[in-house]
Order: sequence, then structure tokens, then C-alpha cells
Amino acid sequence: MANPRQTAIQTIANTDYDLNQLDFRASHLKDLFGSLVFSEEVQKARLPKPVFKALQKTIKQGAQLTDPAIADAVASAMKDWAIEHGATHFTHLFQPMTGLTAEKHDSFLAPVGDGTAVAEFSGKELIKGEPDASSFPSGGIRATFEARGYTGWDPTSPAYIRETPNGATLVIPTVFVSWTGEALDKKTPLLRSMEALSAQALRIVRLFGNKDAVKVFTTVGPEQEYFLIDKNFLYSRPDLMNCGRTLFGAKPPKGQELEDQYFGTIPERVIACMAECEAEMFKLGIPVKTRHNEVAPSQYEIAPIFEDSNLATDHNQLCMDVIRRTAEKYGLVCLLHEKPFAGINGSGKHNNWSMATDLGENLLNPGDTPHDNAQFLVFCVAVIRAVAKYPELLRVSVASAGNDHRLGANEAPPAIISIFLGSQLQDIMDQLEKGKPEKTIPGGFMEIGVSVLPKLPRDAGDRNRTSPFAFTGNKFEFRAVGSSFSIGGPNTVLNTIVAESIDFIATALEKATQGGTPLNKAIQDLLPGILKESKKVIFNGNGYSDEWQQEAARRGLPNLKNTVDSLPTIVSKESIALFGKYKVFTEGELTARYNIFAEKYVKEVTIEAATMVNMAKTMILPAAIRYQGEVATAVNATKAAGIDATAQLEALKELAATVTAFQKATAALEHELAHEHSGDPYAHAKATRDGVLPKMVELRTLGDKLETLVADDHWPLPTYREMLFIK
Ligand code: ADP
Ligand code: MG
Repeated sequence: MANPRQTAIQTIANTDYDLNQLDFRASHLKDLFGSLVFSEEVQKARLPKPVFKALQKTIKQGAQLTDPAIADAVASAMKDWAIEHGATHFTHLFQPMTGLTAEKHDSFLAPVGDGTAVAEFSGKELIKGEPDASSFPSGGIRATFEARGYTGWDPTSPAYIRETPNGATLVIPTVFVSWTGEALDKKTPLLRSMEALSAQALRIVRLFGNKDAVKVFTTVGPEQEYFLIDKNFLYSRPDLMNCGRTLFGAKPPKGQELEDQYFGTIPERVIACMAECEAEMFKLGIPVKTRHNEVAPSQYEIAPIFEDSNLATDHNQLCMDVIRRTAEKYGLVCLLHEKPFAGINGSGKHNNWSMATDLGENLLNPGDTPHDNAQFLVFCVAVIRAVAKYPELLRVSVASAGNDHRLGANEAPPAIISIFLGSQLQDIMDQLEKGKPEKTIPGGFMEIGVSVLPKLPRDAGDRNRTSPFAFTGNKFEFRAVGSSFSIGGPNTVLNTIVAESIDFIATALEKATQGGTPLNKAIQDLLPGILKESKKVIFNGNGYSDEWQQEAARRGLPNLKNTVDSLPTIVSKESIALFGKYKVFTEGELTARYNIFAEKYVKEVTIEAATMVNMAKTMILPAAIRYQGEVATAVNATKAAGIDATAQLEALKELAATVTAFQKATAALEHELAHEHSGDPYAHAKATRDGVLPKMVELRTLGDKLETLVADDHWPLPTYREMLFIK
């Protein structure tokens, strides 16, 4: 009988896929785009003018929707539009602390009492929902007896239609809060952080004479990396199925060393799948732009054009969902884990980030005039100061059990947070730091507002892939985010720490200018000191090198190597003060997150360990013992025939010794898992890291050794060679 691995391979070899399911000649891209979105265009066509105006004011300028009649009018138009698109239900989509999205569907149907029914959807239903949803992690905010959680409409992220087999649903993006108003989700704090940044950034914009902008948005373009492998492999690997990553698997003879995958031709089945993913995303109004092969075999990347960070976050959640669901149709499975395969690159999500006014001015775009450049420098220095002041918060915003396998593993940025500026911007910062106005022109130093800064080209030549936080011409790229993450968390932190820096700078500049100092002089007086204090975080060298680890230690930069080391930052005094001041998180909300992340860490590692034990006992050990029996029989038969069997006996000894060690390691891990933990979630996380993780590593090493000893026809688990290269 064929084992699961052989069955998987045969199935793949014998399956034909219909790869021509779409015809872009029949449906043009531009007609597809946004066709399932209750977009501005649809709103304009379907809403009474005053309602449309009020709604747009809320979306574009953050004005509150106060009039219930407006919500009713919007709801009614939305319902008619949705029903025309085949929707039978609506749902409030929210983003609980699991990092995923959650939804509960309600039908539009309302019986009228005479045996008939009408379709109904009121403003009240649009604005507020009360899913029971008491089982989501709340970190202690919601005791289950008062488990009320509310969803609230976010008008700034447009509703859309989700098409599924046999129907469609109207999806309304919402926040999720407790009845006391505490955030139970990732969207609420993100929106709060965007408001905080907007309020502070407007102060600077005003100092530069801009009276028209009413809001500053943070903009984000997340580059999403992922793996696609054949679905049949998933079925025969409990680790991939339960944990999204392989817990065993010997290094293949060929991995990514030839770099023949990176930017290579995309395999046919994969490109067919990508095309359908993109078509789906276009319909949902997600502006996907680029696709390519990534460094690891079977690894790919998709990137959209940037949007405001709230929309970008919602769209990235949708993007992950669309790829997961579409892959299935092509017999593929999408792995979003940060490290599905040991020994080859893992997946991340580069979070390209900037700030822009509602009039469309990118505040991190160096301009052509001294005036523009001065404003750019102020914002740029604000970001540098923020990263220098709160590196631990950025670090913890990307901490997870999965990302621990990636950060600092010489393929992803190190766990040390630093900034890469590139030679041109570095040169300008150096001049700025040294520059004294009186020496300016003769000494060649820069004076703000007077000399023309060298114009920074948009694509600033040099690139550094090893830095966690890099300036890339007109935006910063935060590269440490994990592939499976909601970008809501990291952007909440980024927005808040930058808001604090801008606040600090605006306060100083306002004071100086009110005292009669010209703005340029005030900037010139202020920025050098900030740069001096912050420059320890700037590093333009190789972030993967050992020298950087030592250099960073000398500079006193934090090096929080894993999730457990970084979690306490969340509830530090500085964190509570910062997030409290800008009304992004209360102390209670921070404590809840600290507990939730610790619990999540424990659960993820424990599930992995339990899966390993299970695979060890029911898959690897039986195969190894069967093979051991075969070899033993052969040795005896050889001896009985009077032939020297020394070499075979040696092989048998090595095999038996490895099997014994493997059994012991399995028992040790099982024992560790049986340990009852008491204490708070953080203590538990620490014990898990220190007790469970090392035993998993030991067991894996032995299991992987067995893979190289046991006869191939006995080995039940698809190998790395097969999973990564059979396409
Ligand atoms: P790269 O050279 O880093 O590949 P791209 O121009 O291709 O740069 O952009 C990568 C990502 O950064 C894209 O998602 C893009 O939309 C995004 N991006 C570009 N400008 C901004 C900006 N001002 N704010 C946020 N993201 C941006
Ligand atoms: Mg990339």
C-alpha cells in the first residue's frame, strides 16, 4: 500500500487543472476594478446629494456623522445596491485580537406578519451590531458575564460584496469595542493613532503656511510575501495543516542557493492562481500592482499601491483571505506563516509608510525648493527621533512565535531596530547636524531655507536589504513585520511614536516663532540637537553582520531577541504614558494586549509541540522501526548465509541508536508538555520558551537525521525537495 506521501505525489502527477478560467478580453481590468465596492462613485450615483456630501466629509475629513437620517439613507442605498449584486445577508466585519477577521451574518429578511417578508436594513443596523463574540481573546477586559462586545461602522473603509458559492454577502468594515468603550480589536487603536498623528502633523503643516489641509493621513503600501505549495502535501503533513509550518524536514540537496527562483518565470499553475487572485482583488477595489517570484523556492510576493493606513490594513487582511481561498481552487495552499520551511527564507511584509495631507502632499517627499526641503527635513527628523526613542515598541509590534524564527536569522532584518538613510540623506543629515548658520555658505554647510539642498532623486540609488527601517526615497519601509500579521498593530505603534515626535518638534517651533524667531532659524536651531541625540539608531551598514550586533550593543541599542523578551515593553511606564497621552491605548487596553500576546505565544508553541509529539509517535517512529526490522532481518540472513555483515550491522547500530534517542526526545517533550503551569500568562510564556522550545529543537534534529537514514519508500512525510519543487 502506498503511504500518504506517495499518494500525494501520484495525485499531483495525475491531476489536470483548468488554468484558463478568466478572460480579460471579455472583462476589462478597468471595469473590474471596484465593481464590488460601495465606492464613492456608487455613493454619488445612489445617495441624495446632501447625504452624499455628509458621508464624504466624514470619509475624507473625519467629520462625525451625527444625523441618524443620514445613516438610514446610506443603509437603504447600500441594501438596494447589495441585493442587486445578489447579496442575501450583511455582516459587520471586525478584527479581533487574533489578528484575523471575524464576521457574523444577518439576513436582510424581515417578516411583516402577514406571511410575507421584506428586505430591510436600517441605519441603526448599519451603525451598530452586537455579535455575542464573547470567545475572542480580551486579555481580561471582558469578563464573560458582562461579555457584551459591539461592532461599530467605520465609514472610512467602504462596504463591499463578498461573492461566495451560492450567494453573496454585504460586508461592512467595523471596529469592535467592549460596552465600556475599550478596544477589543486592531482597528480602533489604528484609527485613534491616525487621528493623533493627524492633529500633530497639521501643526507643522500650518507653521509652513498651509491653511487648506484639514487632515494628515498615514499612508501604507504593504508588500506581502507568501508560499504556494500543492494542497496534497498539506493533507499528508499534520504540521502544515495544524501549524502552517513544517516541524520536521531534512535540508534538501538543492534549496535556494542557486537563486534561480528569485524574479524567475512564474510557474503556470501559480500564475493562473495569481491572475484570479488579482481579478478578485480588483473587484474588491484593492489596487494590486506587482507580482513576482521571491527568493525561496515556491515563494511569491504581491504588492498593492499604497492607500491610507486604515484602508491598507483592511485591504491587506482581504488580500491574505483572497489568496488563501483562491489557491484552493487551483489545488494549491497558501502558507502565510513567517517560517514554513527551515533553512530557506521565511516570509515578511514590508510596511512602506509615509504621511500625506488630504490634499495629496507626501510629507516625506524631498522637494525641489528650499521651503519644501525644510518641511521634509522636519518630518524626516521627527521619524528618526521616534525610532530612536521607542525602538522597543517597534520591536514588540512585530513580535510573535512565528516571526521569532525569522528576525535575526540572516534573511530578515535583525531584532535590533535601526534606521538606514542611504548616502545622500545621510550626507544631508550630517551637514544639518554640524551646520551652524554663520558658517553656512563659506563652510559649505547647509542652511535651511537658504541653500538649495541637493535634489534627492525619488529612487535614492543605494539599497539596503538588511535594515529593519529604511528610507526609500519618499517613504520609510518597516521590514520586520511578519507575513501573517495584521499590519494594524505595527502601524498603530508607528503612527503614535511619530505623533509624539512631531508634537515635541511642533511645540518647540511654535514657541520659537511666537517669540519672533523666523521659522527657518528655529528649525536650524532645533534639529541638530535632535539628530545628535537620535543618531545612534542610524546604521547604514550590513545589518546581518556580527559586527553590527557588537556595535549596536556598544551604542546601547536594545536587542530583544524574541517575543518573550520584548513583551514587557507593552506595559512599561513609557509605553503607558505615551499611548495614554495620545489616547491610543489606556493602561487597561495595554495590559490586555500584553496578556493576549503572551497567551497566544504559549498556545502557538504548545500546539506545535503537541503536533510534533503526535507526528513523532504515529508517523516517524513507526516508519523508522519498520525499517530497522528490515535491516535487522537482512543482517541476520546475511550472517546465516555465512557472509560478512559488519558494514550492515554498523548501519543498523547507527539507526537503532538514533531511534532510541528519538524516542527519548519524544518522551522528554511530552513530559514537558504535561507540566501544569500556574502563574500569569507572561510567566507561562517564559516557561514555554525556556522549557518547550529547546526540546522541540532536539526532537527535530533527530527526526531530520532519521529522514536521511530510513529507506525512502518507508518515509511517510513529503520531503522539502518534493514540497518546494513539485509544481
Ligand atoms: P520599491 O522600490 O521599494 O519596490 P515601490 O515604489 O515599488 O518601491 O513601492 C513599494 C511599495 O511602497 C508599494 O506598495 C508602493 O505603493 C508603496 N509606496 C510608495 N509610495 C508610498 C508612500 N508615499 N506611502 C506609503 N507607501 C508607499
Ligand atoms: Mg520585497
